[in-house]
Amino acid sequence: MKTTCLRMLTLALTLGLLILLGAGQSRASLEIHCIDVGQGDCTLIISPTGGTLLFDAGTNGRGNDTVIPYMQSLGLSALDYIGSSHYHMDHVGGIDEVVNSLGIDSVRVSVLDRGWSYTTITYQDYANAVAPKRTTIVDNQVIDLGGGVTATCVTVNGNGALSPPFLSSNHDENDMCVGLLVEYGDFDFFVGGDLSGVNSSSYSDIETPTAPDVGDVDVYRVDHHGSSSNSNTNFVSTLLPEVSIISVGSNSYGHPTQTILNRLVSYGSYIYQTETGSGGTIPAGEGEVVGGHVVIEVFPGYFTVDGDFYDLGISGVEVAAQPLSLEISPNPFFGETTFYLGGVGGRDLKLEIYDVQGRLVNVLSAVGAGQTLQAVSWNGRSVAGSPVAPGVYFVRLGGETGNVPRKVVRR
Ligand SMILES: [Zn+2]
Repeated sequence: MKTTCLRMLTLALTLGLLILLGAGQSRASLEIHCIDVGQGDCTLIISPTGGTLLFDAGTNGRGNDTVIPYMQSLGLSALDYIGSSHYHMDHVGGIDEVVNSLGIDSVRVSVLDRGWSYTTITYQDYANAVAPKRTTIVDNQVIDLGGGVTATCVTVNGNGALSPPFLSSNHDENDMCVGLLVEYGDFDFFVGGDLSGVNSSSYSDIETPTAPDVGDVDVYRVDHHGSSSNSNTNFVSTLLPEVSIISVGSNSYGHPTQTILNRLVSYGSYIYQTETGSGGTIPAGEGEVVGGHVVIEVFPGYFTVDGDFYDLGISGVEVAAQPLSLEISPNPFFGETTFYLGGVGGRDLKLEIYDVQGRLVNVLSAVGAGQTLQAVSWNGRSVAGSPVAPGVYFVRLGGETGNVPRKVVRR
Protein backbone atom coordinates (compact mmCIF):
# COMPACT_ATOMS: atom_id res chain seq x y z
CA MET A 1 0.00 0.00 0.00
CA LYS A 2 2.78 2.38 0.99
CA THR A 3 4.74 1.67 -2.19
CA THR A 4 1.66 2.18 -4.30
CA CYS A 5 0.92 5.52 -2.62
CA LEU A 6 4.46 6.75 -3.19
CA ARG A 7 4.33 5.67 -6.79
CA MET A 8 1.03 7.44 -7.35
CA LEU A 9 2.37 10.58 -5.67
CA THR A 10 5.37 10.63 -8.01
CA LEU A 11 3.09 10.06 -10.95
CA ALA A 12 0.75 12.81 -9.76
CA LEU A 13 3.59 15.32 -9.39
CA THR A 14 4.95 14.45 -12.80
CA LEU A 15 1.54 14.80 -14.36
CA GLY A 16 0.17 17.68 -12.33
CA LEU A 17 -0.83 19.65 -15.39
CA LEU A 18 -2.53 16.69 -17.02
CA ILE A 19 -4.55 16.01 -13.86
CA LEU A 20 -5.79 19.60 -13.79
CA LEU A 21 -6.73 19.36 -17.45
CA GLY A 22 -8.51 16.06 -16.87
CA ALA A 23 -10.64 17.15 -13.93
CA GLY A 24 -13.27 19.23 -15.69
CA GLN A 25 -13.53 17.71 -19.13
CA SER A 26 -16.22 15.12 -18.46
CA ARG A 27 -19.12 17.59 -17.86
CA ALA A 28 -18.96 19.90 -20.88
CA SER A 29 -21.83 18.92 -23.16
CA LEU A 30 -24.08 19.93 -26.01
CA GLU A 31 -27.64 20.32 -24.71
CA ILE A 32 -30.74 20.00 -26.89
CA HIS A 33 -33.95 20.87 -25.10
CA CYS A 34 -37.10 19.66 -26.86
CA ILE A 35 -39.45 21.96 -24.99
CA ASP A 36 -42.99 20.65 -24.47
CA VAL A 37 -45.24 23.25 -26.11
CA GLY A 38 -48.21 20.90 -26.61
CA GLN A 39 -49.23 20.57 -30.29
CA GLY A 40 -46.27 22.41 -31.82
CA ASP A 41 -42.50 22.40 -31.93
CA CYS A 42 -39.78 24.17 -29.95
CA THR A 43 -36.11 23.20 -29.79
CA LEU A 44 -33.45 25.02 -27.76
CA ILE A 45 -29.83 24.15 -28.57
CA ILE A 46 -26.98 25.16 -26.22
CA SER A 47 -23.38 24.42 -27.22
CA PRO A 48 -20.67 23.50 -24.65
CA THR A 49 -19.40 27.09 -24.86
CA GLY A 50 -22.89 28.56 -24.34
CA GLY A 51 -23.82 29.34 -27.95
CA THR A 52 -27.62 29.26 -28.31
CA LEU A 53 -30.20 28.65 -31.04
CA LEU A 54 -33.95 28.60 -30.41
CA PHE A 55 -35.65 26.86 -33.35
CA ASP A 56 -39.44 27.42 -33.34
CA ALA A 57 -41.35 28.44 -30.19
CA GLY A 58 -44.76 26.74 -30.27
CA THR A 59 -48.08 28.35 -30.99
CA ASN A 60 -49.44 31.75 -29.89
CA GLY A 61 -49.23 32.07 -26.10
CA ARG A 62 -46.55 29.39 -25.68
CA GLY A 63 -43.71 31.89 -25.95
CA ASN A 64 -44.89 33.73 -22.83
CA ASP A 65 -46.36 30.73 -21.00
CA THR A 66 -43.71 28.07 -21.66
CA VAL A 67 -40.58 29.16 -23.53
CA ILE A 68 -39.65 32.27 -21.55
CA PRO A 69 -40.09 30.56 -18.12
CA TYR A 70 -38.09 27.59 -19.41
CA MET A 71 -35.27 29.87 -20.58
CA GLN A 72 -35.34 31.67 -17.22
CA SER A 73 -34.98 28.33 -15.42
CA LEU A 74 -31.74 27.86 -17.38
CA GLY A 75 -30.57 31.40 -16.63
CA LEU A 76 -30.90 32.47 -20.28
CA SER A 77 -31.88 36.10 -20.97
CA ALA A 78 -30.44 36.34 -24.48
CA LEU A 79 -30.00 34.12 -27.54
CA ASP A 80 -27.40 34.05 -30.30
CA TYR A 81 -29.84 32.82 -32.94
CA ILE A 82 -33.54 32.27 -33.35
CA GLY A 83 -34.76 30.18 -36.27
CA SER A 84 -38.19 29.33 -37.63
CA SER A 85 -38.82 26.18 -39.63
CA HIS A 86 -41.86 27.66 -41.42
CA TYR A 87 -44.70 30.06 -40.81
CA HIS A 88 -47.45 27.81 -39.47
CA MET A 89 -48.81 29.00 -36.12
CA ASP A 90 -47.74 25.96 -34.07
CA HIS A 91 -44.08 26.72 -34.89
CA VAL A 92 -43.79 30.48 -35.34
CA GLY A 93 -46.61 31.65 -33.04
CA GLY A 94 -44.51 32.01 -29.88
CA ILE A 95 -41.43 33.61 -31.45
CA ASP A 96 -42.68 37.21 -31.36
CA GLU A 97 -43.50 36.75 -27.67
CA VAL A 98 -39.96 35.53 -26.93
CA VAL A 99 -38.44 38.42 -28.91
CA ASN A 100 -40.71 41.04 -27.34
CA SER A 101 -40.03 39.68 -23.86
CA LEU A 102 -36.23 39.54 -24.23
CA GLY A 103 -35.97 42.64 -26.40
CA ILE A 104 -34.74 42.40 -30.00
CA ASP A 105 -31.23 43.50 -28.93
CA SER A 106 -31.01 40.32 -26.85
CA VAL A 107 -30.92 38.38 -30.11
CA ARG A 108 -27.15 38.67 -30.54
CA VAL A 109 -26.75 37.57 -34.15
CA SER A 110 -29.89 36.98 -36.23
CA VAL A 111 -33.34 35.52 -36.70
CA LEU A 112 -33.13 33.01 -39.55
CA ASP A 113 -36.07 31.89 -41.67
CA ARG A 114 -36.98 30.85 -45.22
CA GLY A 115 -37.69 34.41 -46.39
CA TRP A 116 -40.71 35.27 -48.54
CA SER A 117 -43.96 35.69 -46.59
CA TYR A 118 -47.22 34.13 -45.43
CA THR A 119 -50.83 35.26 -45.19
CA THR A 120 -51.72 35.12 -41.49
CA ILE A 121 -51.82 37.67 -38.65
CA THR A 122 -49.55 35.30 -36.67
CA TYR A 123 -46.99 35.60 -39.45
CA GLN A 124 -47.31 39.42 -39.49
CA ASP A 125 -46.76 39.56 -35.71
CA TYR A 126 -43.65 37.43 -36.18
CA ALA A 127 -42.33 39.46 -39.12
CA ASN A 128 -42.84 42.77 -37.28
CA ALA A 129 -41.15 41.56 -34.09
CA VAL A 130 -38.04 40.10 -35.74
CA ALA A 131 -37.62 42.62 -38.59
CA PRO A 132 -34.41 44.31 -37.29
CA LYS A 133 -32.57 40.96 -37.05
CA ARG A 134 -34.35 38.96 -39.76
CA THR A 135 -32.10 37.12 -42.24
CA THR A 136 -33.02 34.61 -44.95
CA ILE A 137 -31.21 31.30 -44.47
CA VAL A 138 -29.71 29.68 -47.57
CA ASP A 139 -29.13 26.04 -48.44
CA ASN A 140 -25.87 24.66 -46.98
CA GLN A 141 -25.47 27.65 -44.65
CA VAL A 142 -23.53 26.65 -41.53
CA ILE A 143 -24.44 28.23 -38.19
CA ASP A 144 -21.45 27.96 -35.85
CA LEU A 145 -22.65 27.67 -32.23
CA GLY A 146 -19.13 27.30 -30.80
CA GLY A 147 -17.49 24.45 -28.94
CA GLY A 148 -17.50 22.30 -32.08
CA VAL A 149 -21.28 22.47 -32.60
CA THR A 150 -22.65 23.44 -36.01
CA ALA A 151 -26.17 23.57 -37.43
CA THR A 152 -26.24 23.22 -41.22
CA CYS A 153 -29.25 24.12 -43.35
CA VAL A 154 -29.99 20.98 -45.41
CA THR A 155 -33.30 22.09 -46.91
CA VAL A 156 -35.17 25.36 -47.40
CA ASN A 157 -37.96 26.25 -49.83
CA GLY A 158 -38.12 22.70 -51.20
CA ASN A 159 -34.40 21.87 -51.52
CA GLY A 160 -34.35 22.45 -55.27
CA ALA A 161 -37.50 20.43 -55.97
CA LEU A 162 -39.79 23.47 -56.11
CA SER A 163 -39.80 26.63 -58.23
CA PRO A 164 -40.26 30.19 -56.95
CA PRO A 165 -42.23 32.09 -55.87
CA PHE A 166 -42.09 30.31 -52.50
CA LEU A 167 -45.53 31.38 -51.41
CA SER A 168 -48.48 29.38 -50.08
CA SER A 169 -50.35 30.21 -53.30
CA ASN A 170 -47.82 27.98 -55.14
CA HIS A 171 -46.69 25.38 -52.62
CA ASP A 172 -47.78 23.97 -49.29
CA GLU A 173 -46.10 25.81 -46.45
CA ASN A 174 -44.79 22.49 -45.06
CA ASP A 175 -42.90 21.77 -48.30
CA MET A 176 -40.82 24.91 -47.77
CA CYS A 177 -39.59 24.09 -44.23
CA VAL A 178 -36.06 24.82 -43.09
CA GLY A 179 -34.31 21.62 -41.97
CA LEU A 180 -31.19 21.70 -39.79
CA LEU A 181 -28.53 19.04 -39.28
CA VAL A 182 -26.88 19.67 -35.91
CA GLU A 183 -23.43 18.07 -35.57
CA TYR A 184 -21.11 17.70 -32.58
CA GLY A 185 -18.27 15.21 -32.96
CA ASP A 186 -19.86 11.90 -33.92
CA PHE A 187 -23.33 13.02 -32.81
CA ASP A 188 -25.93 14.04 -35.43
CA PHE A 189 -29.40 15.48 -34.87
CA PHE A 190 -32.02 16.48 -37.44
CA VAL A 191 -34.90 18.91 -36.95
CA GLY A 192 -37.08 19.97 -39.88
CA GLY A 193 -40.41 21.33 -38.64
CA ASP A 194 -43.24 19.81 -40.70
CA LEU A 195 -41.14 18.92 -43.79
CA SER A 196 -43.32 17.07 -46.33
CA GLY A 197 -42.66 13.46 -47.35
CA VAL A 198 -45.40 12.57 -49.86
CA ASN A 199 -46.52 13.73 -53.28
CA SER A 200 -50.24 14.52 -53.11
CA SER A 201 -52.67 17.23 -54.17
CA SER A 202 -51.38 19.30 -51.24
CA TYR A 203 -47.79 18.25 -50.67
CA SER A 204 -44.54 17.61 -52.50
CA ASP A 205 -42.09 14.99 -51.21
CA ILE A 206 -39.10 17.03 -50.01
CA GLU A 207 -37.85 14.46 -47.50
CA THR A 208 -36.60 12.10 -50.23
CA PRO A 209 -34.27 14.61 -51.96
CA THR A 210 -33.18 15.88 -48.52
CA ALA A 211 -32.31 12.46 -47.03
CA PRO A 212 -28.82 12.20 -48.64
CA ASP A 213 -27.93 15.65 -47.26
CA VAL A 214 -28.82 14.47 -43.75
CA GLY A 215 -27.45 10.90 -43.70
CA ASP A 216 -27.34 8.69 -40.61
CA VAL A 217 -28.32 10.51 -37.42
CA ASP A 218 -28.47 9.62 -33.75
CA VAL A 219 -31.60 11.62 -32.93
CA TYR A 220 -34.48 12.56 -35.26
CA ARG A 221 -36.94 15.28 -34.23
CA VAL A 222 -39.85 13.68 -36.05
CA ASP A 223 -41.32 15.76 -38.89
CA HIS A 224 -44.87 17.10 -38.49
CA HIS A 225 -45.71 15.59 -35.09
CA GLY A 226 -45.83 12.04 -36.47
CA SER A 227 -48.20 12.73 -39.37
CA SER A 228 -48.42 10.01 -42.04
CA SER A 229 -47.58 12.64 -44.70
CA ASN A 230 -44.05 12.73 -43.36
CA SER A 231 -41.21 10.45 -42.19
CA ASN A 232 -41.41 8.42 -45.41
CA THR A 233 -39.49 5.15 -45.71
CA ASN A 234 -36.72 6.73 -47.82
CA PHE A 235 -36.14 9.30 -45.13
CA VAL A 236 -36.31 7.02 -42.08
CA SER A 237 -34.21 4.28 -43.71
CA THR A 238 -31.50 6.85 -44.52
CA LEU A 239 -31.50 8.62 -41.16
CA LEU A 240 -31.77 5.35 -39.14
CA PRO A 241 -32.16 7.27 -35.87
CA GLU A 242 -31.40 5.48 -32.59
CA VAL A 243 -33.82 7.91 -30.94
CA SER A 244 -36.91 9.66 -32.33
CA ILE A 245 -38.55 12.55 -30.50
CA ILE A 246 -42.16 13.44 -31.26
CA SER A 247 -43.48 16.82 -30.14
CA VAL A 248 -47.25 16.55 -29.91
CA GLY A 249 -50.26 17.67 -27.88
CA SER A 250 -53.99 17.13 -28.02
CA ASN A 251 -54.95 17.66 -31.68
CA SER A 252 -57.61 17.06 -34.33
CA TYR A 253 -55.23 15.50 -36.90
CA GLY A 254 -54.67 12.09 -35.29
CA HIS A 255 -51.00 12.87 -34.49
CA PRO A 256 -48.93 10.86 -34.00
CA THR A 257 -50.15 8.24 -36.46
CA GLN A 258 -49.76 4.53 -35.76
CA THR A 259 -48.16 4.15 -39.19
CA ILE A 260 -45.26 6.43 -38.29
CA LEU A 261 -44.84 5.09 -34.74
CA ASN A 262 -44.57 1.56 -36.18
CA ARG A 263 -42.23 2.70 -38.97
CA LEU A 264 -39.80 4.42 -36.58
CA VAL A 265 -39.74 1.34 -34.34
CA SER A 266 -39.26 -1.00 -37.33
CA TYR A 267 -36.06 0.90 -38.20
CA GLY A 268 -34.73 0.46 -34.67
CA SER A 269 -35.70 3.78 -33.09
CA TYR A 270 -36.67 4.27 -29.46
CA ILE A 271 -39.38 6.95 -29.23
CA TYR A 272 -39.74 9.77 -26.71
CA GLN A 273 -43.03 11.65 -27.01
CA THR A 274 -43.70 14.93 -25.19
CA GLU A 275 -47.41 14.25 -24.66
CA THR A 276 -49.97 11.53 -25.41
CA GLY A 277 -51.38 13.32 -28.45
CA SER A 278 -54.50 12.12 -30.27
CA GLY A 279 -53.33 9.29 -32.48
CA GLY A 280 -51.53 5.98 -32.16
CA THR A 281 -49.78 4.21 -29.30
CA ILE A 282 -46.05 3.53 -29.07
CA PRO A 283 -45.50 -0.25 -29.38
CA ALA A 284 -44.84 -1.75 -25.93
CA GLY A 285 -41.25 -1.37 -24.78
CA GLU A 286 -40.25 0.72 -27.82
CA GLY A 287 -40.63 4.17 -26.32
CA GLU A 288 -42.38 6.32 -23.77
CA VAL A 289 -44.66 9.31 -23.35
CA VAL A 290 -42.53 11.61 -21.22
CA GLY A 291 -45.31 14.03 -20.30
CA GLY A 292 -43.03 17.05 -20.58
CA HIS A 293 -39.77 18.31 -22.01
CA VAL A 294 -37.22 15.90 -23.52
CA VAL A 295 -33.59 16.86 -22.83
CA ILE A 296 -30.61 15.49 -24.75
CA GLU A 297 -27.05 15.88 -23.44
CA VAL A 298 -24.13 14.95 -25.68
CA PHE A 299 -20.66 14.09 -24.36
CA PRO A 300 -17.61 12.70 -26.17
CA GLY A 301 -18.49 9.07 -26.92
CA TYR A 302 -22.08 9.00 -25.66
CA PHE A 303 -25.29 10.95 -25.17
CA THR A 304 -28.24 10.84 -22.81
CA VAL A 305 -31.96 11.43 -23.39
CA ASP A 306 -33.79 12.33 -20.17
CA GLY A 307 -30.95 10.53 -18.37
CA ASP A 308 -31.10 7.34 -20.50
CA PHE A 309 -27.66 6.34 -21.78
CA TYR A 310 -26.81 5.91 -25.50
CA ASP A 311 -23.35 4.90 -26.62
CA LEU A 312 -22.09 6.62 -29.76
CA GLY A 313 -20.23 3.42 -30.55
CA ILE A 314 -16.58 2.46 -30.68
CA SER A 315 -16.07 5.09 -33.38
CA GLY A 316 -17.32 7.78 -31.02
CA VAL A 317 -13.98 7.75 -29.26
CA GLU A 318 -11.01 6.23 -31.01
CA VAL A 319 -9.72 3.48 -28.77
CA ALA A 320 -6.09 2.46 -28.57
CA ALA A 321 -5.30 -1.00 -29.95
CA GLN A 322 -3.32 -2.09 -26.92
CA PRO A 323 -3.85 -0.20 -23.63
CA LEU A 324 -0.88 -0.90 -21.39
CA SER A 325 -1.70 0.44 -17.95
CA LEU A 326 -4.61 1.52 -15.80
CA GLU A 327 -3.84 2.78 -12.31
CA ILE A 328 -6.46 3.98 -9.84
CA SER A 329 -6.02 6.44 -6.99
CA PRO A 330 -7.34 6.43 -4.36
CA ASN A 331 -8.77 2.91 -4.31
CA PRO A 332 -10.91 2.68 -2.19
CA PHE A 333 -12.12 6.26 -2.64
CA PHE A 334 -14.63 8.62 -1.08
CA GLY A 335 -15.60 11.63 -3.20
CA GLU A 336 -13.56 11.35 -6.35
CA THR A 337 -10.95 9.08 -7.87
CA THR A 338 -8.46 9.55 -10.66
CA PHE A 339 -7.51 7.03 -13.30
CA TYR A 340 -4.06 7.18 -14.89
CA LEU A 341 -4.07 5.70 -18.36
CA GLY A 342 -0.76 4.80 -19.92
CA GLY A 343 0.83 3.64 -23.15
CA VAL A 344 -1.69 5.19 -25.52
CA GLY A 345 0.14 8.09 -27.07
CA GLY A 346 -1.82 10.15 -29.54
CA ARG A 347 -5.05 8.20 -29.12
CA ASP A 348 -8.29 9.07 -27.38
CA LEU A 349 -9.63 6.69 -24.78
CA LYS A 350 -12.94 5.62 -23.37
CA LEU A 351 -13.11 4.29 -19.83
CA GLU A 352 -16.28 2.39 -18.87
CA ILE A 353 -17.47 1.96 -15.29
CA TYR A 354 -19.76 -0.96 -14.38
CA ASP A 355 -21.52 -2.04 -11.20
CA VAL A 356 -21.23 -5.61 -9.87
CA GLN A 357 -24.29 -6.65 -11.89
CA GLY A 358 -22.54 -5.62 -15.09
CA ARG A 359 -24.65 -2.53 -15.71
CA LEU A 360 -22.86 0.40 -17.33
CA VAL A 361 -22.75 3.24 -14.79
CA ASN A 362 -20.71 5.91 -16.54
CA VAL A 363 -18.24 6.50 -19.35
CA LEU A 364 -15.23 8.77 -19.08
CA SER A 365 -13.39 10.16 -22.07
CA ALA A 366 -9.73 11.04 -22.23
CA VAL A 367 -8.68 13.13 -25.20
CA GLY A 368 -5.09 12.09 -25.68
CA ALA A 369 -3.86 13.68 -28.88
CA GLY A 370 -0.07 13.82 -28.78
CA GLN A 371 0.16 12.69 -25.17
CA THR A 372 1.42 9.42 -23.80
CA LEU A 373 -0.26 9.44 -20.40
CA GLN A 374 -3.67 10.66 -19.32
CA ALA A 375 -5.41 11.34 -16.03
CA VAL A 376 -9.20 11.36 -15.83
CA SER A 377 -11.37 11.68 -12.74
CA TRP A 378 -14.64 10.05 -11.72
CA ASN A 379 -16.79 11.97 -9.26
CA GLY A 380 -18.68 8.85 -8.14
CA ARG A 381 -21.79 9.72 -10.11
CA SER A 382 -23.81 7.89 -12.73
CA VAL A 383 -24.11 9.17 -16.28
CA ALA A 384 -27.35 10.88 -15.23
CA GLY A 385 -25.48 12.73 -12.45
CA SER A 386 -26.75 10.76 -9.42
CA PRO A 387 -24.23 9.64 -6.77
CA VAL A 388 -23.69 5.87 -6.95
CA ALA A 389 -24.15 3.70 -3.87
CA PRO A 390 -21.12 2.59 -1.83
CA GLY A 391 -19.76 -0.71 -3.03
CA VAL A 392 -17.56 -2.43 -5.59
CA TYR A 393 -17.34 -1.15 -9.17
CA PHE A 394 -15.32 -2.26 -12.14
CA VAL A 395 -13.61 -0.01 -14.65
CA ARG A 396 -12.58 -1.17 -18.10
CA LEU A 397 -10.12 0.52 -20.41
CA GLY A 398 -11.04 -1.00 -23.72
CA GLY A 399 -8.88 -1.66 -26.77
CA GLU A 400 -9.34 -3.32 -30.14
CA THR A 401 -7.32 -6.37 -29.15
CA GLY A 402 -8.03 -6.54 -25.45
CA ASN A 403 -8.89 -4.55 -22.37
CA VAL A 404 -7.60 -3.72 -18.92
CA PRO A 405 -10.16 -4.21 -16.14
CA ARG A 406 -9.69 -3.02 -12.54
CA LYS A 407 -11.75 -3.06 -9.39
CA VAL A 408 -12.56 0.14 -7.52
CA VAL A 409 -14.33 0.43 -4.16
CA ARG A 410 -16.52 3.37 -3.26
CA ARG A 411 -16.80 3.98 0.50
ZN1 LIG B 1 -46.50 21.68 -36.97
